[in-house]
Amino acid sequence: MDLATVFDLQNIKYMFLTHLHEDHTVGLPSFISGPFKFGPGPDKKIYGPEGVDEMIANINAAWRLDRNEMFQGSTTQKADGATAIGVPVWPSTDPKGRLIYEDDNVTVEAFPTEHGFLHHTYAYRFTAKPDGRVIAFGGDGHYSEGLVNAAKDADVLVIESITRKNIMFVVWGGDTEDEKVKIIGAYHMFPEDMKKVQDDSGVKQIVMTHVQNYNDPEHFDRLSVLKEMQDAGVTNILMAEDGDIY
Ligand SMILES: [Zn+2]
Ligand SMILES: [Zn+2]
Repeated sequence: MDLATVFDLQNIKYMFLTHLHEDHTVGLPSFISGPFKFGPGPDKKIYGPEGVDEMIANINAAWRLDRNEMFQGSTTQKADGATAIGVPVWPSTDPKGRLIYEDDNVTVEAFPTEHGFLHHTYAYRFTAKPDGRVIAFGGDGHYSEGLVNAAKDADVLVIESITRKNIMFVVWGGDTEDEKVKIIGAYHMFPEDMKKVQDDSGVKQIVMTHVQNYNDPEHFDRLSVLKEMQDAGVTNILMAEDGDIY
């Protein structure tokens, strides 16, 4: 399989959102409209927690002028691929998860995760039908039964992480270390949590993304959160880089 096939961005039809925080959704206008500008493609369905339908409808409305301009003065482009709808997954706390999508190539299951005070956050488990390969995608959140179930014996888990060692450099979550550990730990994945996720799920490979690496600028090290994970006993863990294939 060549890279053009792997990164066939023009033909992406589906997206699965773990939650609706702005740092996980701010790229949606470009995901919806960007590929269309280079030629017609499929319309898009964006799965996510309750409220995703409203969010996508509002994005469509907010970028209406841009979308309308695409239809004018063009002899090659047509309306195909210019629209997107949001599909709410389901509000549930059952850690066993649920099948939410299936086609000839893949099944997608959603599992509830725990991420601060947000009520609906999900991890997704993608099972490729041709070879049974399993990719779990965790989004934000600390250790949870749902996350462990999503990653059970998976080939790859893509997941966030945050520093524990340099927590006093994190700009939110209180003034004292105790406060920060309690509040930040309610939202994000410390190294000890990651170790527990790996041990309880048996996942074969962890890929860290959305790495929250805070430090004194004098001592900033791009790989320091990865080292914290390894020091906590997490094995087979990598830091994601753009263009990597796992
Ligand atoms: Zn978040
Ligand atoms: Zn986030």
